[in-house]
Amino acid sequence: MRWMELPRKVAVGSGVVLELPEICADLKLAPRVLIVTGPNTQDVVGKAIFDLLMDGGFQPETLVCSASQIEEVARAERLAREIKADFLIGAGGGRSIDIAKLASLTLDVPFLSVPTAASHDGIASAQASLTINGETSSVPAHAPLAIVADTRIISQAPTRLLAAGCGDIISNFTAILDWQLAHRLRNEEYSEYASALSSMTARMIVELAPDIRPGLDDSVKIVVKALISSGVAMSIAGSSRPASGSEHKFAHAVNSISPGRALHGELCGLGTIMMMYLHGQDWKMIKRALGQVGAPVAAIELGLDAEIVVEALIHAHKIRPERYTILDAGLNRNAAARAAEATGVI
Ligand SMILES: [Zn+2]
Repeated sequence: MRWMELPRKVAVGSGVVLELPEICADLKLAPRVLIVTGPNTQDVVGKAIFDLLMDGGFQPETLVCSASQIEEVARAERLAREIKADFLIGAGGGRSIDIAKLASLTLDVPFLSVPTAASHDGIASAQASLTINGETSSVPAHAPLAIVADTRIISQAPTRLLAAGCGDIISNFTAILDWQLAHRLRNEEYSEYASALSSMTARMIVELAPDIRPGLDDSVKIVVKALISSGVAMSIAGSSRPASGSEHKFAHAVNSISPGRALHGELCGLGTIMMMYLHGQDWKMIKRALGQVGAPVAAIELGLDAEIVVEALIHAHKIRPERYTILDAGLNRNAAARAAEATGVI
């Protein structure tokens, strides 16, 4: 028997961070809390949350983490044990949230997600990305008990991050096509509900793409809600299947060949263009939408050589081999180069 794990409270809007103590009290959370934040996000939101919780009768402690590495997760676990934390808060971009998510899983206490950027769906999902010995992988964790996404804070984040978030949502198009393929060819378990929610979310972003502008509260709201919907789709499915397919494998492959060049969502966006082509679907629609939100649509925009793109396409199927996608059909070098060239990615 599999349980669906969903967030209990979701607050999205301008200034909602001020409601954090009330949300924690309403969730009947005990007073000791460890806030995991980053060196920059500490000033953006970490200190503010600390004061808010203190005034609200909680006993907060802060840990500033720099990278989403296993050592940092261990550090968070140690401090949380030391202060006997009743719950954790991940306040920042992806890293702080991932560290809080993973540490809280080991400690068996709840965690809350307070994102400062809308750059990927990890802000709402039960998956975390973790670096072990230099290799980054996606690991199953648990969903946040609550998500408090203050759009006033998120709209201050660099432009590039919101565009990357759109790329991570648009990925759902090919993630669903891959999932359907795996269902047909491998009899893999498939959820109509998770699939419908995930597809609808991606379609909404494509339809609204012309109106999505960085720095605008309404645009941020659209993207944050879509990232949360993607997270919920994954919770319903009990895996990242509805939001991660061949395009994510491509993104991970690029990162392992040439680490740190681009943001996760940017690479997923590029991957989605090419995987739509391989699926024989409307890749031009994807490319147009990504262009409209200001996300990269060609490798050169990220400083990636054509050879890296082709190599990543050829080797991507080796990443998470148990997850069947269009790439497992046996893409050869010539076909890989053609997919990248025909779509203008290289
Ligand atoms: Zn992703």
